[in-house]
Order: sequence, then C-alpha cells, then structure tokens
Amino acid sequence: MSEKIPVGISACLLGEAVRFDGGHKRLAFAVEELAPWVRFEPLCPEMAIGLPTPRPALRLVRSAAEGNIALRFSNGQPGDLSAAMNSLSRQAVSHMAHLCGYVVCAKSPSCGMERVRVYDEQGSNNRKVGTGLFTAQLMQQFPWLPVEEDGRLHDPAIRENFIERICALHELNQLRRAGLKRHELLAFHSRYKLLLLAHSQPLYRELGRFVAAIHQWQDPGAWFNEYRLRLMQLLAHQATRRNHTNVLMHIQGYFRKRLNTRQRQELATLILRYREGTQPLLAPIALLKHYLSEYPDPYLAQQRYFEPYPEALRLRYGY
Ligand code: SF4
Repeated sequence: MSEKIPVGISACLLGEAVRFDGGHKRLAFAVEELAPWVRFEPLCPEMAIGLPTPRPALRLVRSAAEGNIALRFSNGQPGDLSAAMNSLSRQAVSHMAHLCGYVVCAKSPSCGMERVRVYDEQGSNNRKVGTGLFTAQLMQQFPWLPVEEDGRLHDPAIRENFIERICALHELNQLRRAGLKRHELLAFHSRYKLLLLAHSQPLYRELGRFVAAIHQWQDPGAWFNEYRLRLMQLLAHQATRRNHTNVLMHIQGYFRKRLNTRQRQELATLILRYREGTQPLLAPIALLKHYLSEYPDPYLAQQRYFEPYPEALRLRYGY
C-alpha cells in the first residue's frame, strides 16, 4: 500500500491532552500499529467549539418539553452547547469526504458512537441510548464510512472488520480519484468476490445483481455512490467462520487437480480445524497462499481475500 490512508480520529485517542480533565485516552493500537499505514486527521470537537482544557465535563440531556437532546455541562453550569457543537460538526464533516474511516472515543457526549448516556433534566435516570453529537453528524452525512470506537477495537474480529472496510474504501476512493471507468469498477468488484462471500452470501448475490445492471446507469457517479453504500454495508456484516470455511473450500477446489493426496488431505484437515475453532484463519490461508505461489492462478492471485489489509497488522492471528 503506497499511499497512507486518511482516517479521522478523536484527538484524545492520539494522546493529545484535550480531555475535560486535562488528560488523554491514547489508543496504542492506533498510535503504534495503525500509524505506519494510516494518515490520522485528529479533531477534538469540544476544543474546536472553543472550550478549554481542563473544563467541566459535558453530558447529553433530553429536554422534557421538546424531547430534543442537548449538550450541557454536567456540573449544573448554565448553557446549552448543542447549537455550537452541531454547527461545528456540520462544518467540519463537510470537509471529510476524503476520509476512509473514523476512530471515535467511546462514551463521549461529543464523540461516542453508541450507548452514550442520556440524562433527564434533573440529571438522573440516565440511559445508554445516545450518540455523541459530532459522531451523529458524521454518520448521518457519510453512512458508508467505517466508524468504530476505541473500546470495541480491542475485540479482534471487530478490529479486523474495521481495518478491512477502511482498506476497501480507500481502494474504491482511489478509483474515483483516477476517474470512474466501468471496466475498472467491475474489476474491483471481481477482486472482492471471495472477501464479500465471507461476509454474506445472500447480500453478495444481491450486490451482484446491482453490479450486473451497471450499464443501465447513465451517470457513473450516481452508480458509484450507490455501490459504495451497498458495498460498505455488506462488509460491515461480520464475516463468519462458516462463510470463511465455504470460501476456503471453494478455493481448495482450484487446486484439486494440482495437489497430491497427502497435500489435499493436509489442506482439508486444516480447513476443518479452522471450522472447529482449533486453528486461526491465518493457517489455511497461509497454506493456500503457498499453493498459489506454486501453482499460479490469475483469478485467485488478484483476490483481496488473501490480503485485504497489510499482513504486518497481524489481524488474522486472533480468530
Ligand atoms: S472524546 Fe472527543 S471531545 Fe472528548 S476529548 Fe476526546 S476528542 Fe475531545
């Protein structure tokens, strides 16, 4: 991957001391592991609306009269920061169409992605049902954008899925930057076939019907926007062990005539062990990649399934 991928991030996760308590929430995975591949674009929405650090903590409050959710100080200090935060968010997000992903800080009334506490006006009865105002704006303007929280990225499967989506969107955005050409979009879709099948076979078939109708679209830009949304929604479905097993067996079929009995058995056993959960996905994939270098196949060689993100991130070790 030659060019670093542009990814937005809550500034406190990069280690910037911008939190209400003067501290940060440095996310080691981002700072240490992702940084070689990603060009982070940090933003602290609360600092961007002019708040200092340290500052009183903020919270989301549901107004009893209108049902609106407002951003207020949690210490009872008067003031409603919602208009300032919504205006800043709209303006900032309008300059973020180039981003391929966003890592946000969990639980924050500005940056949290889900389950942010929403209080009643008396400051009690809080329920974890909110989204930070900045992130709500981000997800509303760019529903295709991969967005994840720091805490959820500790889960290996969620982490792998997030990085996979970021890399796919980056590749797709590069096609658009180079000027949309139908044959390149179709080649992109073909390269992602096995990877998409690992996420959802029914959704892959549905997307396939959409792709097959590409020639009916007069405006390639409109087709691209719809395809991007559908593709990213499909990839957001967590790949399953069962679907991976089907894909591995499908690839196995390509080598059937080339491998001897011992090699075929070894491969079948490895796929079975993966299916049973006693081997990580990396194991059968490494063996298939080995056979691919021994017995090259142009169709398989271009499949993103074998390397959907830089191997050095070691994302397929954990599951
Ligand atoms: S969570 Fe968001 S608003 Fe809060 S300190 Fe971090 S970047 Fe700033």
